[in-house]
Amino acid sequence: MYPVNEGLEAVSDRTVLEIDLGAIRRNWRMVRDTFTGHSVGAVVKQDAYGFGASRIVPLLASLGCRDFWVVSFEEGLEIRALLPEARVFVLHGLAGAPVAEFRANALVPVLVDAAELPMARAEAARRGPFDVALQFDTGLTRLGLTLGDVRRLRDEADAFAGLRVAAYVTHLARFADPFAHRNVQQWRRFRSWSSVLPAAPLSFCASAGVFGDSSRHCALARVGSAIYGVETTPARPQPITFAARLTAPILRVMDVRAGVEVGYGGVYRTPRPSRLAHVAAGYGDGIPFSFRHQAHVRIGGRPAPIVGGVAMNLMTVDVTHLPEGSVRPGARVEFYGPDAPVDRLAAAAGIAPNALMVPTAHRAHRIYRDSEATPVARPAGHGVLEQGKAAGDAA
Ligand SMILES: *Cc1c(COP(=O)(O)O)cnc(C)c1O
Repeated sequence: MYPVNEGLEAVSDRTVLEIDLGAIRRNWRMVRDTFTGHSVGAVVKQDAYGFGASRIVPLLASLGCRDFWVVSFEEGLEIRALLPEARVFVLHGLAGAPVAEFRANALVPVLVDAAELPMARAEAARRGPFDVALQFDTGLTRLGLTLGDVRRLRDEADAFAGLRVAAYVTHLARFADPFAHRNVQQWRRFRSWSSVLPAAPLSFCASAGVFGDSSRHCALARVGSAIYGVETTPARPQPITFAARLTAPILRVMDVRAGVEVGYGGVYRTPRPSRLAHVAAGYGDGIPFSFRHQAHVRIGGRPAPIVGGVAMNLMTVDVTHLPEGSVRPGARVEFYGPDAPVDRLAAAAGIAPNALMVPTAHRAHRIYRDSEATPVARPAGHGVLEQGKAAGDAA
């Protein structure tokens, strides 16, 4: 991407997320070209997984993405304001607003419970045909219609009166292993349940599914993680590029003797004379508390373990083994980045990649780069082509 530190002087006291729009474009094309169904929709919930919907959504639309999936009504409004023409699915059903508000903003609720169907029908009876999607609860025991609901709706004459079904949706419980037996079971239920209701496009695959068995691609994919370069299938690496880097600055470097307590409650005691670097990042910045003994950051590409706990906006790193010049106040430590994707650091702490990335990305100052921007020619004599930053790309 770009050297750590470049252009970050102005935010030298907080976490920074650098986002490579070029990598996002490449990931999008890879997903789109791999998917054999009708079209790929982008999941942009949680402010596009923390990458910033206001930049990511128009970018994806410019690459041909027409369907966007969010969780809440409020997120739906944000996408609608950015893209008047897009189709926007709201995964939490009708919970967020009166049903008429969904119509007024052309948002498609993905109904999460059979009890929402009468509300949708009533809206259709009041103002004419109404677009909905339906989720099926085929294995997660979470949201969507059950087998009992499906049977009842099949036998009810007016169950879908006035409704246009834009999609049937289900979500895998074992997405990380697209070939797991339980997934086959969910797949069979999905096919069977949808076959007895009014015909509509099926949406089965999230990121992992697109890179899994293509015979289960169906019409509409809902892809989040892969667009941002986050691996969701550790055992089966996907051809994607991690598109962000999270860094935080060192505030202070100090040499201490052996046997010194570091952090609240003396959680760490130096086993030998040590050099410590105190870093401006903590759980208030989304760094999991569980990182206190199980994770490391990187400084100048070299790993350095977190010691002495994770405080609200502060943590300590043992840098005894690092070259002296590389560790100084103002230098930035890297949590994850192109050479150290988020899934690896998350795995070291036993959490899901998005459980680390989304909270940290949300709270960081975001800077947009573009590795695909037109190369800028240096004046004659230098003879080097350098990757240029598109004008206005640094937010
Ligand atoms: C978040 C979400 C997705 C996207 O999953 P990724 O693995 O990030 O691609 C798809 N469908 C539903 C219902 C989701 O909640």
